[in-house]
Amino acid sequence: MQLAVLGIGLLGREIAMRLVAHGFQVLAWNRSPEKAASLAEAGIAQAQDAGTAIAASDCTLLLLSDAAAIRETLLTTACKPNLAGRMIVQMGTIAPEESRDIAASIERAGGSYLEAPVLGSLPEAREGRLIVMAGGDESLYQRCLPVFQALSEAPQRIGEIGQGAAVKLAMNQLIAGLTTSFAYSLGLVRDANVNVEQFMSLLRRSALYAPTFDKKLDKYLNHDYRGANFPLKHLQKDLSLFCRVAQGMSFNSTPLLALEEVFSGAIADGLADADYSAIYEALVHARGPKTSPQRPLKDDQDSDN
Ligand code: NAP
Repeated sequence: MQLAVLGIGLLGREIAMRLVAHGFQVLAWNRSPEKAASLAEAGIAQAQDAGTAIAASDCTLLLLSDAAAIRETLLTTACKPNLAGRMIVQMGTIAPEESRDIAASIERAGGSYLEAPVLGSLPEAREGRLIVMAGGDESLYQRCLPVFQALSEAPQRIGEIGQGAAVKLAMNQLIAGLTTSFAYSLGLVRDANVNVEQFMSLLRRSALYAPTFDKKLDKYLNHDYRGANFPLKHLQKDLSLFCRVAQGMSFNSTPLLALEEVFSGAIADGLADADYSAIYEALVHARGPKTSPQRPLKDDQDSDN
């Protein structure tokens, strides 16, 4: 199957590499062409523009930042004619309503649309362990299943368009919520000069433990958030999407909106490209860390995004 991957950012790059390694022919396009060009060594050719990539492929995977990026890439006068008869699979994190709107525009242009957002990050993409939560037509899903099976041990179709996006947003709200909760508890333990390992050993034996706590522990302890696989700016985007969805329902959005403000402050303080766990600094060290062996992300330090 000839595939196109639009968006060779952190996740798109790994997905393109994984798919080519699994025998798919892959064509890449990225707004900044140098990122797509860097995949040539892996046998992934670069398309001149998004429309060319779509027209040349059976199926096009979107790994773009957000709904605005998708619209700017696909729903332009130049690109729309290439959508006729083509299958588009949206894999980024966007809101259910955005997904339904984009689907409708693609279908009006004669294309077909499936959403397949993923949970997991770069290691999971590399190893084919992403959690795929698809939404859309069952027969389209079946046609795309070999692609999903190369990326995931157990891809699932959740339901209609918007339902996959809803599950994905529910998952990412948990990332923000668990990270926030743990930051406050760890902050208290450290402030009280309690041995962190003793606290962790108790927590690990309790029903309150989540593996993500240990995964990020060194980052909190060292105040070092470089090498982001999933940068804070994307978790902020997802939290904002969740807030908008919650406001459209009968949820009390007050705590979500307060948290969104903290995330926005952290972005304004230069943490956009840091690992999302850097939100710890904004939550617990609102007036700066008491002891700061390393600043969160220095201007002259590279992160992997
Ligand atoms: P990323 O590294 O920031 O890459 C974003 C991609 O979108 C880049 O290719 C960027 O192109 C492109 N883009 C942004 N604005 C654009 C525009 N206006 N027009 C055209 N292209 C545009 O993000 P990522 O981590 O790969 O994530 C991609 C999506 O997957 C996001 O929705 C994210 O929330 C979701 N996701 C990410 C992870 C993860 O672990 N990283 C996991 C699950 C889901 P340029 O290179 O030209 O800027």
